[in-house]
Amino acid sequence: VSYLGLDIGGTELKAGLVDADGRILRSEHRSAQAGDLAGLIDTIGELLVSVSDDAAPVALGVGVPGLISADRDEVDFAPNVTILNGAPMHALLVEKTGLPVVVRNDADLNAWGEFKAGAGQGTSHMMCLTVGTGLGSGLIVNGSLYSGTSGYGAEAGHIIVDRDGRACGCGGRGCLETVVSATGIVATAREGVDSGKATSLRAVLAEAGGPLTAKMVLDAAVTGDQFAASVYTSVGRFLGIACGSLINLLNLEMIVIGGGVSAAGKYLLDPAIEEARSRTYSHTYDSCRIVSGQIGPDAGIVGAALYAAQLNP
Ligand SMILES: [Zn+2]
Repeated sequence: VSYLGLDIGGTELKAGLVDADGRILRSEHRSAQAGDLAGLIDTIGELLVSVSDDAAPVALGVGVPGLISADRDEVDFAPNVTILNGAPMHALLVEKTGLPVVVRNDADLNAWGEFKAGAGQGTSHMMCLTVGTGLGSGLIVNGSLYSGTSGYGAEAGHIIVDRDGRACGCGGRGCLETVVSATGIVATAREGVDSGKATSLRAVLAEAGGPLTAKMVLDAAVTGDQFAASVYTSVGRFLGIACGSLINLLNLEMIVIGGGVSAAGKYLLDPAIEEARSRTYSHTYDSCRIVSGQIGPDAGIVGAALYAAQLNP
């Protein structure tokens, strides 16, 4: 038996055919051309037929970057894929595929993927923070995905870590994702570069001729640039402050750090772990592990497919 997982991003659609153990049997990517909703649904339909090949998947799970109503499976707000705003995705995709369909927030499904088939296997209470362009998160409580009253719950990216901090895409200020994200890393590094800190990043930027990226900052840190390393330390400490708060609030068994930025490994995780330890009761801290994700960039596909598996086991 196999299931389809679909991850709708701002610029890319990723689909996978996944077995009951969370193994990806086949996957395909396609660019999500700007256009109208009907065109997007057609593209999704073609992608799903292509990735299914001669298999007969029995359910479809869909991750969307935005607020998804838990009871209607509709997209209530998708700031990065605006043609999805208000889209009745569940109805449209049931009609398109004839399959049972579940639509959820993409970071919730990343968390489900790590919970069922990755680092979080065997836990009951875990949170997965997906650190990429922004910071998405999903919370598993008693082995179930926690969605909150309307489906919008467990948005750790909008925990406030700095009362007077940077403006956030949510309309607030000082949210975790304004610091702990690729965007936040670039902003922190930019501030240092602009204020005259000694760093190789100026030369890197001059050579690249393009904008600063989190990858450039990481590469500089790896090659011994003290300032670049300090950017990751600073960002990691903010991550640790958030992890400490989550551990204090929820007595979690595990926090999984996934997403592209987690490739920074110890540069991000070591300061985060140290900070979380210093801001929690040792009793609560000791029962929690903060670890890297195991599945990588396809966690969303795996999680979507395995979440859909509950519809048609
Ligand atoms: Zn925010």
